[in-house]
Amino acid sequence: MSDASGKVIPLQMVDDVRDQLQRPVRDLRLSVIETCNFRCPYCMPEEAFPYGAAESSAFRLSFDQLETVVRAFVRLGVSKLRLTGGEPLLRKGLPDFIRRLSSIDGIEDLAITTNASLLARQASALREAGLHRLTISLDSLDPERFAALSGGRGKLTDVLAGIEAAEDAGFERIKFNCVVQRGINEDDVLPLVERFRGSGHVLRFIEFMDVGTCNRWSRERVVPSGELLRRIGERWPLQALQPNYRGEVAERYAFDDGQGEIGFISSVSAPFCGDCQRARVSADGQLFTCLFASSGHDLRALIDAGEDVLADALAAIWRQRSDRYSERRAEVGEAEHVEMFRIGG
Ligand code: SAM
Ligand code: SF4
Ligand code: SF4
Repeated sequence: MSDASGKVIPLQMVDDVRDQLQRPVRDLRLSVIETCNFRCPYCMPEEAFPYGAAESSAFRLSFDQLETVVRAFVRLGVSKLRLTGGEPLLRKGLPDFIRRLSSIDGIEDLAITTNASLLARQASALREAGLHRLTISLDSLDPERFAALSGGRGKLTDVLAGIEAAEDAGFERIKFNCVVQRGINEDDVLPLVERFRGSGHVLRFIEFMDVGTCNRWSRERVVPSGELLRRIGERWPLQALQPNYRGEVAERYAFDDGQGEIGFISSVSAPFCGDCQRARVSADGQLFTCLFASSGHDLRALIDAGEDVLADALAAIWRQRSDRYSERRAEVGEAEHVEMFRIGG
């Protein structure tokens, strides 16, 4: 924050805010758009969300409003910010918004999660705007399977072109996320590891999760990370690494032969709610304190009331938070969950 003369004014911090389980808020996932150009069956299945059906952006927050959200969260202690969607690269004017965000005091890590289908055209603008890091979702290196896993909407060649453009633009240590489903893309695991070993990038395998309401999740379709770890380790021996920071969701392993590392996100087989420091805000201004929440807190009026009012309200909501869905999955059973494409993972 700065005054009219450009002098930096210290942020007015709200006290260290802790939820009911003593977890701070450090990490904000901000959705900039509620729609997507893919229809991945595990996230936004076409039969439930027909492509091209009337979509309304009427409630989408403006960049000014989104920036107010970020600034308010920074006062609560957020230092990591990830832009997501839907597909965030569909949002017009994103590089200019990233430039604004990258100048906010307190944001130490500014990243985006994307399906990379539109990245070839945008990578250098994103980099120049000050984006620090990229996470790219990639479930298969087989063109036909890739197409099927994007609901028939994506082309692997576009994503590969996006990756190349991102490397050319100077993005390093790109994270690649692969959701593994039993009987669907299990045999993509080793080719993906082979492709990214030694590349300087980091591949992470994500357990298929029971997010949303219509992805037909079943436990049988989850491939536990332990099983993948064994399979990969038989081919390329691995050793466990310490987390980079408290609350890191991926368990990290290094290749014994020095060819980099891989990660596992095991929300189903090894829940990590105890360290969950993450808030999510949808593109229409709803705050979700858990990936599996059934409803959000409407922030729109609070945003319009300004950063001070919003920061106080966010602190009050966070202090009430007691979510730990993944740890309670078995006892909670079926429940209505917010759709993944609304809050972006
Ligand atoms: N469209 C962007 C993308 O795909 O990278 C950003 C939003 S997408 C919802 C964020 C992440 O959520 C992706 O990596 C995707 O694979 C993951 N995801 C979606 N549905 C999932 C599910 N049912 N289980 C596990 N991960 C899922
Ligand atoms: Fe779109 Fe990402 Fe969901 Fe796939 S995972 S449908 S790319 S939002
Ligand atoms: Fe956090 Fe909810 Fe996931 Fe647990 S289930 S790690 S509380 S988002």
